[in-house]
Amino acid sequence: MLDLNRGLGSLVFALISVLIYAQQEPFFRSPEGLSLVSTDLHIHTVFSDGAVWPNIRVDEALREGLDLISITDHLEYQPHQADIPHPNRNRSYDIARDHAKDSELTVIKGAEITRSMPPGHINAVFIRDVNKLLFPDDAKAAILEANKQDGFVFWNHPNWEAQRPDGIARLEPLHKELIKKKLLHGIEVVNFTTFSEEAMTIALENDLTIVGTSDVHGLTTWDFRISEGGHRPITFVLSKNKSVEAVKKALFAGKTMVWFKDIIIGREEHLSKIIKANLTASSISYNKDEIIAKVKLKNHAATPFHLSYKGLYTFHEDSSVFIIPPHGEKTILVKTLERKTSLELPFELLNGITGAKKHLTFSLLTQ
Ligand SMILES: [Zn+2]
Ligand SMILES: [Zn+2]
Repeated sequence: MLDLNRGLGSLVFALISVLIYAQQEPFFRSPEGLSLVSTDLHIHTVFSDGAVWPNIRVDEALREGLDLISITDHLEYQPHQADIPHPNRNRSYDIARDHAKDSELTVIKGAEITRSMPPGHINAVFIRDVNKLLFPDDAKAAILEANKQDGFVFWNHPNWEAQRPDGIARLEPLHKELIKKKLLHGIEVVNFTTFSEEAMTIALENDLTIVGTSDVHGLTTWDFRISEGGHRPITFVLSKNKSVEAVKKALFAGKTMVWFKDIIIGREEHLSKIIKANLTASSISYNKDEIIAKVKLKNHAATPFHLSYKGLYTFHEDSSVFIIPPHGEKTILVKTLERKTSLELPFELLNGITGAKKHLTFSLLTQ
């Protein structure tokens, strides 16, 4: 009887979990005609200097609603080697992929090429065989091999204080050479808890894909306070669909947005599409005998929108700067001076970063 009760209990629990999972709103609505694929392309396990088995990385990603991850253990830095010797450097990927087999999560193969500056640490993802990237004395050879395997190659934490004591990301001649030869395709503007405006400038000036990753070594729930509503840095790929080929193609084409703490970071054209899909305005209405327009703004995303109004009107209950909470809404009262049937409201998104000290500007149309 006890066992039966327990069985029923866990069945009910499972059903509730499924219902909650099914009702979970996406982090962001996808722009029309596109899939917004959530990724973390920089993750460690015990197979380099991480603290957890690859299974846990898969479970974390599933719990956190990610679509695609890459386990990128250090090729050369192997502090657990005495306890976990593994001549096969594809092993952490194999375990994670098997664990994710019957789930919605895609695991792709990756590695971190680990060097002093220059070039510093470089991630290679979408590769075929990690073992072939082992060139302990020649970073360039590993990068060449990653390219030979059609990998997507990006520069990790160019602002890392262990390699850049001033925290400033800057290009060395070797990076310029790699960019010129199209051997380097992306750069982390966000790594773990840091954001680099200098890396953002490097990305925009050199046509590199903007990437943000967790670079997690411990548990994501502790590092990013998941239980308190936090989230790891996520790179969203604006992809044609969710297939690995389409995601890879979009990454090479630089079609990304990074979600870091409360801010979104990306090229203007991509953030414009995201805001269009995730911030909407109702039609306007007036109370009898008044010419103060009522407009309801709705945020469909999991991040707040910090808005600064740039137009000529003034508001009846707010200043020109206000916040719409995640998945929330806000009604603004616009003093339009004459009765209108629709409004075009120009805004700056203060937490939408399109460049160093630059924020997204856009116009919101009422329905
Ligand atoms: Zn690193
Ligand atoms: Zn790393």
